[in-house]
Amino acid sequence: MLRIERFKPYLRQIPLIFCLALAAGVVAIWVRSYFVADRYRWISFDRSEDWVAYTRLSVGTGLGGMNFSYNYERTSEPGHRNLLEQLRTTTLQTRPSGYSQAQPPRYPLRGGSDDSTLGSLGFGWFYLPERVDDGAGRRLRMGLTVPVWSVFAACMSYPFAVYVAGVLRRQREDRIALGLCPRCGYAVKDDAQRCPGCDRPVPAGLVRHA
Ligand SMILES: [Zn+2]
Repeated sequence: MLRIERFKPYLRQIPLIFCLALAAGVVAIWVRSYFVADRYRWISFDRSEDWVAYTRLSVGTGLGGMNFSYNYERTSEPGHRNLLEQLRTTTLQTRPSGYSQAQPPRYPLRGGSDDSTLGSLGFGWFYLPERVDDGAGRRLRMGLTVPVWSVFAACMSYPFAVYVAGVLRRQREDRIALGLCPRCGYAVKDDAQRCPGCDRPVPAGLVRHA
């Protein structure tokens, strides 16, 4: 019979390994973004008898930045429907879904950044829902730009927390072995039940000083 217990120590490492691998991938994207601007786009047109809808999702990089944008347009107004049908024809011919590159790369911020702290760090976003064609249609445009270092920091937050927790645990174990209060480092003497330094209960197993 397969014993799950044997694999538990390895299973616990999976989130850590996943985060580190992700962080390494983000670093590769980060460096690459200074040489090439990558772009992935997903475009779809949907139709029914009454309406036409256009959806575009794109992810792009450039000069240390990463951008996500989403566009959606749907209408039942005849003139606008024709425009979307034309857009469909030209898009499918010239710029279909998929991967493209831009040279030279530039920071993927649309509409420029504001003067806020986040703006000066390279963060930017917009969210523009609209009713169009006198209520016969809807449009939604939204976008998010983040500096790639912030994605790296997010990926590393879990490994960093694991590291800090490990350091604190070892410090606690070392202090207990040396007869010091794990909380404040005070040398606990004799049979004191509470630490004279911080007045916390002395943990069991503490090696006492004579
Ligand atoms: Zn103490």
